Amino acid sequence: MVDEVGAERVPYVSFEGNVNMAGGQPASMANFRAVYEYCNPLGIRVMLDATRLVENCYYIKTREDGYADKTIEEILFEICSYSDGCTMSSKKDHLVNIGGFLAVNDEELAVKARNMVVVYEGLHTYGGMAGRDMAALAQGIEESVQYDHIRARIGQVEYLGQKLIDSGIPVVRPIGGHAIYLNAKSFCRTSTRIFFPAQALAAELYVESGVRAMERGNVSAGRRPDGQNHRPALELVRLTIPRRVYTQAHMDVTWESIAELYEHRDKIRGLRFTYEPEKLRFFQARFEPIPGSEASSG
Ligand SMILES: *Cc1c(COP(=O)(O)O)cnc(C)c1O
Repeated sequence: MVDEVGAERVPYVSFEGNVNMAGGQPASMANFRAVYEYCNPLGIRVMLDATRLVENCYYIKTREDGYADKTIEEILFEICSYSDGCTMSSKKDHLVNIGGFLAVNDEELAVKARNMVVVYEGLHTYGGMAGRDMAALAQGIEESVQYDHIRARIGQVEYLGQKLIDSGIPVVRPIGGHAIYLNAKSFCRTSTRIFFPAQALAAELYVESGVRAMERGNVSAGRRPDGQNHRPALELVRLTIPRRVYTQAHMDVTWESIAELYEHRDKIRGLRFTYEPEKLRFFQARFEPIPGSEASSG
């Protein structure tokens, strides 16, 4: 990219930890460092999407050489040292209902952003947030880096993932930090019989059990400029687990529901759009089943 267009035309590089579209897989510290060491001399800013960075820190601590004895906080500081700033949606790691922040380590840029926030969100002292939410967020930042909390949170995700694996259900492995991703192409047996396999699987799971998941596949990827559907290699259904919401019993019900659907997977029907928004269609699209598209009918 830099070779093609020149470094001065790359305003910044966005770096997300525990990547949502790739099964919630973490990046290594070596990777964070390498990206920064490449970008910094070229004058390209590295902006972290820090939304699930704390979970990424847990994986660095438990998997990467030399980090076992460091605290989550220390690891987080080191990642941030390889960046020029971050955007943070606090609804995830920070355990709050709403809120987030933009952080930069360039005073001039901070002044500019502060001016913009007054126009778009609210005064720079609260940025559109209520005082109560800011107080909860301050508490959440502290709790988010407590090792036992993160271990329990990721442990719950792994508990569900392991149950599904033990039942022979195709999931993305290793299991990510915030979600289990069902592999819809193999779950539904074939990628050609059903055009939107992940959407079809998510819909059927909801109808059958009330478990609400999310498509991460063709519907999310949208259309190419020529109007054709993007056909991504991965057709995934994301079972995202919020922090401190569910018990082990909820995980068991989810596992049983998916295992049961897996037994009857020939019943899963293909879907077609009844409404397709132009932008970010996965948020608001509506579908209907295509009659006769289930494998057991053919
Ligand atoms: C949730 C999420 C966002 C969006 O955050 P909102 O507060 O819902 O706007 C951005 N990036 C990542 C990685 C997320 O997980």
